[in-house]
Amino acid sequence: MTQAGATLDIERSLDRPGDALIDPFGRAITYLRVSVTDRCDFRCVYCMAENMTFLPKADLLSLEELDRLCSVFVDKGVRKLRLTGGEPLVRRGIMTLVASLSRHLAGGALDELTITTNGSQLAKYAGELAGHGVERINVSLDTLDPDKFRAITRWGELDKVLAGIDAALAAGLRVKINAVALKGVNEDELGDLTAWAHGRGMDLTIIEVMPLGDIGAGRLEQYLPLSLVRARLSERYTLDEIDYRTGGPARYVRVKETGGRLGFITPLTHNFCESCNRVRVTCTGTLYMCLGQEDAADLRGPLRLSPDNAALAGAIEEAIARKPKGHDFIIDRRHQRPALARHMNVTGG
Ligand code: SAM
Repeated sequence: MTQAGATLDIERSLDRPGDALIDPFGRAITYLRVSVTDRCDFRCVYCMAENMTFLPKADLLSLEELDRLCSVFVDKGVRKLRLTGGEPLVRRGIMTLVASLSRHLAGGALDELTITTNGSQLAKYAGELAGHGVERINVSLDTLDPDKFRAITRWGELDKVLAGIDAALAAGLRVKINAVALKGVNEDELGDLTAWAHGRGMDLTIIEVMPLGDIGAGRLEQYLPLSLVRARLSERYTLDEIDYRTGGPARYVRVKETGGRLGFITPLTHNFCESCNRVRVTCTGTLYMCLGQEDAADLRGPLRLSPDNAALAGAIEEAIARKPKGHDFIIDRRHQRPALARHMNVTGG
């Protein structure tokens, strides 16, 4: 985020004095990512082990509780909500939550309600998402090769995802494609993926694999530094630096030949924490102040303590007062174990 963007976030949050969530490093927390389920209909090799044990359904916050939780964050100055997972669109009744959260868009308290999805259920839900005020979505897609797609996702079908993307575009949603760069798997395809995404008016962001969760395979085999990806892409394309920022960790270039935007998220080779404006809540109501640190706060207890939101708001404030300065992921030969035990599907990507 630019300095001006950060200042604007703080000013907006201060519209309601005393309510803004400002962390110890002066960063206004204006972006909440909510993992609405840890379950997924895919088993991507870098995200999960094949036989994952999921949380008992009884531990999950109900849709009403998720709504209440998000709404307290909105009251406290959060301007952007992203639903993620697991796969958010496999949570039963998810459209009820989207519909009810959309009241904050209509009321002007929220700038954006969005979703990160694997696309498998998009053909079914794209129209409804657009109808509830969702304007853009992220779809995760690492390859356009059906066999590789099946190998990466273990259970996924490429055709379904492509049909979902078509449905999203037809419904007027702006789509950004997220692809994880995987050594020896899709590294030779990222140029074609760029041409494909940009040819359909979609941005593409390439993500470095992060050491989250035990996945039953060494991270070093998967890890492909984006400095290498970028160097290879520049043999085919002219990558012009641009100042476009979404407040997130991606750094963007404009690809001259396609006219499209290409983002790089490099948690391992770059630290982007200084402008971090986000926190994450899991489907059990655990608040993680940083994707790359263990410290967390339980919000389910205070949420269930009373129908009044005071205890919940207090717990959120306390947690934000502990938001760490940044993460410290490392993948090298001496650090083959995951930096963090929890998988991406728990915290939400
Ligand atoms: N199911 C949804 C999806 O596929 O987008 C949302 C959740 S998924 C965990 C969110 C994003 O995290 C996906 O783009 C996925 O590729 C990415 N992801 C999962 N594990 C990762 C890891 N270890 N390193 C980097 N990205 C990861």
